[in-house]
Amino acid sequence: MPAPTATAYHCELAWLGGDTALADVLVEVDGDRIVHVEPGVTAPPHAVRLAGLTLPGLANAHSHAFHRALRGRTHDGVGSFWTWRDQMYRLAGTLDPDRYHQLARATFAEMALGGITCVGEFHYLHHQPDGTPYRDANLIGDALVTAATEAGIRITLLDTCYLQGGIGQPPNEVQRRFSDVRVERWTERVQALADAHRESHGVRIGAAVHSVRAVAPDAIDQVARYAIAQSMPLHAHVSEQPAENHACVEAYALTPTELLAERHALDAAFTAVHATHLTEHDVRLLQTHSSTVCMCPTTERDLADGIGPTAAFGESGVPIALGSDSHAVIDLFEEARAVELDERLASRVRGTHTVRSLLVAATDAGHASLGWADAGRIAIGCLADLVSVRLDTVRTAGGGADHALATAVFAAAAADVHHVVAGGRVLVRDGQHVSIDVAGELHRSITRAWEAT
Ligand SMILES: [Zn+2]
Repeated sequence: MPAPTATAYHCELAWLGGDTALADVLVEVDGDRIVHVEPGVTAPPHAVRLAGLTLPGLANAHSHAFHRALRGRTHDGVGSFWTWRDQMYRLAGTLDPDRYHQLARATFAEMALGGITCVGEFHYLHHQPDGTPYRDANLIGDALVTAATEAGIRITLLDTCYLQGGIGQPPNEVQRRFSDVRVERWTERVQALADAHRESHGVRIGAAVHSVRAVAPDAIDQVARYAIAQSMPLHAHVSEQPAENHACVEAYALTPTELLAERHALDAAFTAVHATHLTEHDVRLLQTHSSTVCMCPTTERDLADGIGPTAAFGESGVPIALGSDSHAVIDLFEEARAVELDERLASRVRGTHTVRSLLVAATDAGHASLGWADAGRIAIGCLADLVSVRLDTVRTAGGGADHALATAVFAAAAADVHHVVAGGRVLVRDGQHVSIDVAGELHRSITRAWEAT
């Protein structure tokens, strides 16, 4: 008799998309897909029991993996986003492919421990430090894909077009590393990367415009048309800082969102990252084009960026995804609750975002933004990602089954994730990554990254 290929999981509680968690949910998995979901059933003897609350896989829709090495080293002192960027550039100017692979692997493994089963890696560190292409032009992109695969999570590598140092300015000494010089060279390189990974499991190649600072309008147009032709998700940093808005309005008499819309970037596959300083017209443009926004609240507060208009996004039905961006922390629960808690501080009103909508942001909306429409839900046919959160830790004990969803969103930490299944494979068991010593690898790879600066 052939061995059964299906695995059955029995969840004490699971979120199937509604306003409350359901009890005793049986989830059957065949290969990498969910094939059966049924609440209210007794656990069959062969089922793996998942204690606490089981959620779909979390999606980290905006990451720069190498920024993980900045954690703890760049938060004190004074300054702004721009002075922080100088510190970040010190590291960006010296990382080599091997060091970056090690660092990214540890960073992606940290994500896995926190229930993140898919990352959107916004990748612009393409070339050698002096700006010369590597002999294999996608050496670092490939290293990032390998790192995610080794860490066991899916990746959408958002290969980022970055051509100028500021509006009308050449790239500076560090930025040369980011630049393909001409948009046609970016297109060629990305096409080679996409061709190389067409069959790679758990890998998608997407496109990104770094910002309206770094890509001129005609080049934005070409990147957008390329992404549409290739059915790739397209992301861009948008209005993170008021200075970027002022420079854009001065140069083009358009806000960054208006410029991106005029240059065909906005559509359902587009995600505006940060979207912090937007006008009402900008929000309407995102709404009319069915675009998504990606909020990165822990980074935005660390860099004193400001608070984005998430109430307006909610009212207009603009989907919100979440990202840990600079990795000041990697904790999607913290990002999710910050969307609501920051809004409370800004508006002095509670409850603008429901618990359900914050969970959607962390799961379904994030996956959709990265081109994985078939993930982020515990539903038949979806990729089998199951993230189980303990409800008996010092942070989560006492909330009770009726409040399990609110406990996860408002009280849980990444450290409360105890079991993770990604694409049908167990990735985290009893709070430990099944194949990587995450803290050890983080320590070694970060120390090594700074030794080179
Ligand atoms: Zn970013």
